Amino acid sequence: MSAVISTRGLVKQYGRLRAVDGIDLDVQAGDVYGFLGANGSGKTTTVRMLLGLVLPTSGEIDLLGERMPRAGRRVLPRVGALIEGPAHYGHLSGRENLSLLDAAGRGGSWRTRRRRVDEALDQVGLGGVGRRPVKAYSLGMRQRLGLAGALLRRPELLVLDEPTNGLDPQGISEVRELLLELHRTGTTVFLSSHLLAEVEQLCSRVGVLDRGRLVLQDELATLTAPTGSTVVYTPTPDRVRGTLDGRVASIDGERVIVRGSDPAEVNALLVGAGIPVTGLALDRPTLEEVVLAAAGTSPDRVEARP
Ligand code: ATP
Repeated sequence: MSAVISTRGLVKQYGRLRAVDGIDLDVQAGDVYGFLGANGSGKTTTVRMLLGLVLPTSGEIDLLGERMPRAGRRVLPRVGALIEGPAHYGHLSGRENLSLLDAAGRGGSWRTRRRRVDEALDQVGLGGVGRRPVKAYSLGMRQRLGLAGALLRRPELLVLDEPTNGLDPQGISEVRELLLELHRTGTTVFLSSHLLAEVEQLCSRVGVLDRGRLVLQDELATLTAPTGSTVVYTPTPDRVRGTLDGRVASIDGERVIVRGSDPAEVNALLVGAGIPVTGLALDRPTLEEVVLAAAGTSPDRVEARP
């Protein structure tokens, strides 16, 4: 494992506001890293600092092992980025926009560059419409064109700010598939989002920003690891308490939390006592519960659903 993004004490101050307040990001090669936070928590500012678009007030940033912004010219060609809604020339076609981008990036013969543009358009599902002017594109198509632009470079790292913003459910699932496909082929993905569900479905590692501070950073699997208890669903929760004397941690309607991480054992005891069990599972916290515990904010600050 090697560090792909590493920041130490990263700060951005706007007047009296600390938009980013001393964060230590740690993104390793092969991660799909979800950078979660409510609107205004500092995600975009952080992403812009990572890419050298905004200068930090203090702190250090290493991108692909090199110090930013000093090494930008060397490092940024290895990074694909999509931030704040991609900018395109509306009167040009998607293909022409990509060709312009490509001309500014990697070289190669005319034929090679044309193939690269075609591949990128196909990858984002715009192969059939690449010749239409961008001003006739839907928001989702523009977002996908932006992604195609990021893909042109076959980046080692892809940095995306709210990549599914403004997309319909179909567009969201297409972008998700695309990111997973890229990840399978070796790209490390860093994406910011205010949507817990999106990050939960896509990411292997999670960082949570709350008012400029990184309040949580860990593997998703670790954060949502089993708690050591078993969840039992039953229409007769009080009988569970009677039977498993002392092991019932809590009862919420038909949902009973029983201490012990062996659901089969719990089931055998309950069925043996003639208690109807309608559901049984290892107890794990949801990402939403973990985030709320760490950020101490109400669900409307970090949305659980789009
Ligand atoms: P959103 O999801 O709404 O984009 P965010 O988490 O990306 O939110 P930022 O855009 O990074 O948050 O903003 C963090 C804070 O910094 C906000 O309070 C914002 O108003 C402030 N801010 C951002 N850019 C500037 C700027 N150029 N000058 C002054 N304040 C700024």
